[in-house]
Parts: sequence; C-alpha cells; structure tokens
Amino acid sequence: MIPYGRQSIGDDDVKAVTDALTSGWLTQGPAVPRFEEALCKATGAAHAIAVTNATSALHMACLALGLGPGDIGWTVPNTFVASANCILYCGAEVDFVDIDPATRNMSVVALEAKLEKAKRDNKLPRVVIPVHFAGHSCDMAAIGMLAKQYGFRVIEDASHAIGGAYEGKPIGDCRHSDITIFSFHPVKIVTTGEGGAALTQDEALAGKLRLLRSHGITREHRALPAVNAGDWYYEQQMLGYNFRMTDIQAALGASQMTRLEAFIAKREALAARYDTLLKYLPLRLPARETKIRSAWHLYVVEIDGAGGDAPDDHGEKRAAVFKHMRDAGIGVNVHYIPVHWQPWYRDLGFRPGDFPTAETYYRHALTLPLFTSLTHEEQDYIVKTLGEALA
Ligand SMILES: *Cc1c(COP(=O)(O)O)cnc(C)c1O
Repeated sequence: MIPYGRQSIGDDDVKAVTDALTSGWLTQGPAVPRFEEALCKATGAAHAIAVTNATSALHMACLALGLGPGDIGWTVPNTFVASANCILYCGAEVDFVDIDPATRNMSVVALEAKLEKAKRDNKLPRVVIPVHFAGHSCDMAAIGMLAKQYGFRVIEDASHAIGGAYEGKPIGDCRHSDITIFSFHPVKIVTTGEGGAALTQDEALAGKLRLLRSHGITREHRALPAVNAGDWYYEQQMLGYNFRMTDIQAALGASQMTRLEAFIAKREALAARYDTLLKYLPLRLPARETKIRSAWHLYVVEIDGAGGDAPDDHGEKRAAVFKHMRDAGIGVNVHYIPVHWQPWYRDLGFRPGDFPTAETYYRHALTLPLFTSLTHEEQDYIVKTLGEALA
C-alpha cells in the first residue's frame, strides 16, 4: 500500500536520537531548547514552547489566552477534531465558521458575517482558531484585522503548515495572531514521533505557556517573590499540566528541522507534478494564491458529481473512487469529515446542514498520497488509477 503520508527518517536523525539516549538526559535536557531555537529561527517567532503534541499545545494556548467557562471559541468544521476539542477542554462553548470553497480554509466573508451577528447577540468569541488546511495559509491579514475590530484573540492551527509562508513571511511568525501551533505527528511535515509546539512573539504569553506545560510550576527566581528558602524551592503559580516533550523527541525534531526547506521543496515539486498530470481529469485541484507558499502537507482533489446534498450524504461517487484506489493499493484518505457531524458534536446541538460549504467539500474530497519519498513511478500509477476510477 502506498500510504497518504509517511515520515522521512535519515541516518542523521537516527544518530541524533541515539546520541540523546546516551547523553544522560532523557527529558528536560539540552535538546528541547535546541529544538525550540530551531523553530524560532525557521519562523521568526521570539518564543517556542515544545510539548507532547499539537492537541496539548492547542489546549494550553486556549488557557493562556484566558478561555474559560462562559466564553466562546470558534474554529472551522474542515479540520481534525483537536482544533475544536481544545475549546471544550477549557469549559468554553464551541462554534464553527464555514470554509471558502476554493481554499478550503476559514472563509473571511463567513467570519465577518458571523461576527456581525454575534456582536448584535452579545456572543462574540474570545478566541478564533483558523486552520491552515493542507499547509495553505488562511488569509491571516484579514483575520488579524477582524481580531482587532471585534476584540478576539487568534490561535493559528498550523499543524499542517510548518515551512509554509504567507505574504513572503514564514508561518509561525505570529504577525497576525497571538499564538501559532505546530504538530510533529509522523504524518506531518516534520516529526518527533508525537509532538507539538506553541509559538508566540509575546513574552508574557510565552511565560504562561511554559508554566502550563509543567504543572504551573516555576523555579525561576525572577518569577518568585522574595521567599526565605533555599535552592530546593519551587512554586506552583497556576494549575498546569505535564505536557513536556522528551529530549529523545526533541533531538529528532532538531535534526529534522535542518531538512525543513528540502522537505517543502520536494513536496512542492510533487504537488506541481500532480497539478500537471491531473489537469485533464474531472477534478477540482488545490487552490494557488501568489501570496501563499503552501507547505503541502496534503494534496486534496475534489471529484466532480460526487454526491447529493442531502444531509448525511457521504458522497457516493467519492466512495466508489476511494474503494477503487484502496483496492489498487493506494492509501487515499479523506480530510475531513466535518467536525460538527461527529456524534459528540451532534449531542451539543450541531446538525448536518449547519455549514454547507464544508459539507459539500467533504462529499467530494479525496486525499492523494504525498510525502517526500514518493517516487514519480508511484505518482504516475496513482494518476493512472485515478483516471480509471473516474472513467
Ligand atoms: C494533526 C492535527 C492536530 C493534532 O495534532 P497532534 O500532534 O496529533 O495532537 C490538530 N489540528 C490539526 C489540523 C491536525 O492536522
């Protein structure tokens, strides 16, 4: 089976991990700050806080921005459930903004209309979490402007987008947001096995994120009031968690970061090749925008005539194409079942039909394999098989 995604592990990565294993530090050693520095250097963020995974990074980002009971957080339905669950972890209420059909990202038009209505109803969100779907940045300048106008905070869920850029500047520089989140799960662009990070330019927020990562405990003397105690002294100043990344993982991450540009260049070349090879098939291909450099985490096509618009229709034609591809040994996938269709979210009152653009997109979407070691022969086979499936 050709998978839809696969990590790239080189000899240098193996050496970095074995070095970490024998360094005397398995966790909280020098590799974590080294990895964090590499993240800052690649993005231009002043602070990076590496944690267990992107889900915990999203959770602590919401908490650091003060999200709590009585508050509201918004994200998109076209994402992994973690982008919405993090809002619920904080005891806040979750709602969604529909997507733009071309970019498959949060629609700025839908966001503005929803904010206008929320203002009238006195139900403005405290936090909005746009997701850079497939590695293609959201329109962050527009979202950042609305954040100022309506007074909400912005967390970029850039789980797909490390190495990408918006208006010539790296994703993660938080130019139009408060915090940016990366995931280092093995299917993502850079991996640490499991891992995530929160990046910010704001020193106070970074301090909060560091506290939240480790039980709310600090040992830093400048963070402590004058206490008449010795060097053993530490203080829990808020209710935090154990979201720490190990040195073993961070060593892998730091080693992977040296190849970030090579990873993106390879993905870009494969995506461009897909664009060319798929041009004459009855498909909608990923959007191209000159101001955006996608990190190409995913290559998603939409199949024409893939289904009806009845609520709960999962797209008959797409299902047939999916099965044809899987039967041929091609690990196609679907990103994403709209979050609000999940039973947990239906129990909160959401229904099919609530976010029609994300739902129509979902019925047509098919993720083709894309990873750095995908060969041209494999890609040709995928394209040929897809052509047969569509015929
Ligand atoms: C993968 C992913 C997450 C969760 O990442 P983990 O590191 O597995 O916790 C969150 N949001 C999006 C959009 C993702 O793709």
